[in-house]
Amino acid sequence: MPADRRGLVLAIDGPAASGKGTLARRLAAHFGLPHLDTGLLYRATARALLDAGQPLDNARAAAAAAALDPARFDEERLRGAEMGEAASVVAAFPHVRQALVAMQRRFASQPGGAVLDGRDIGTVICPDATVKLFVTAAPEIRATRRHRELAQKPGAPDLGMVLADIRRRDARDSGRADAPLVAAPDAFILDTSSLGIEEAFAHAARLVMDRITTA
Ligand code: C5P
Repeated sequence: MPADRRGLVLAIDGPAASGKGTLARRLAAHFGLPHLDTGLLYRATARALLDAGQPLDNARAAAAAAALDPARFDEERLRGAEMGEAASVVAAFPHVRQALVAMQRRFASQPGGAVLDGRDIGTVICPDATVKLFVTAAPEIRATRRHRELAQKPGAPDLGMVLADIRRRDARDSGRADAPLVAAPDAFILDTSSLGIEEAFAHAARLVMDRITTA
């Protein structure tokens, strides 16, 4: 462990079910950093509108995003599969993204550093992050992983539905005009298609250590 880790910011981006969330949590625990799952911000924005019986439109969603209180998030409820879809709809609205920038940058600028995972962390939120990882895997592999997680809950969708959801979200997240899902030019691409979480973590931790020790 290096003597001085002040301001170590790890930006972890990638598509749905790529393993980026697990990896981000593991890296945060390993390097003793706070972690923000930025997908929850978009999920909570969509949830607030749906709970209020309102349509997912730009102005309402931006107001809901600006009023979020992460301390009150019900993560279990936000992580449901149907919220991923609604989150990707509101995430395409530029005013929603704008409303969430300052909160994310504040989190990233904590004195000791931070780990953030999402879609645009390395490109928009933290373009100067110490290390950027773009975690990906083939859609079929991601769908199989997500299906395995969901299968433990009642009313789980079948594999075909999970794959269709992943493809739809990939297309919406990559195709939007504002902050699309794309690897930053200086991101390390970590394809987890044939990697277990331990291998992916070991690889990512090594990249971070290499960056810190050569900085
Ligand atoms: O990562 P997660 O699946 O929870 O994200 C839900 C949705 O939120 C994504 O499909 C994406 O549309 C949106 N999102 C985003 N930018 C982020 C994080 C999530 O657009 N930084």
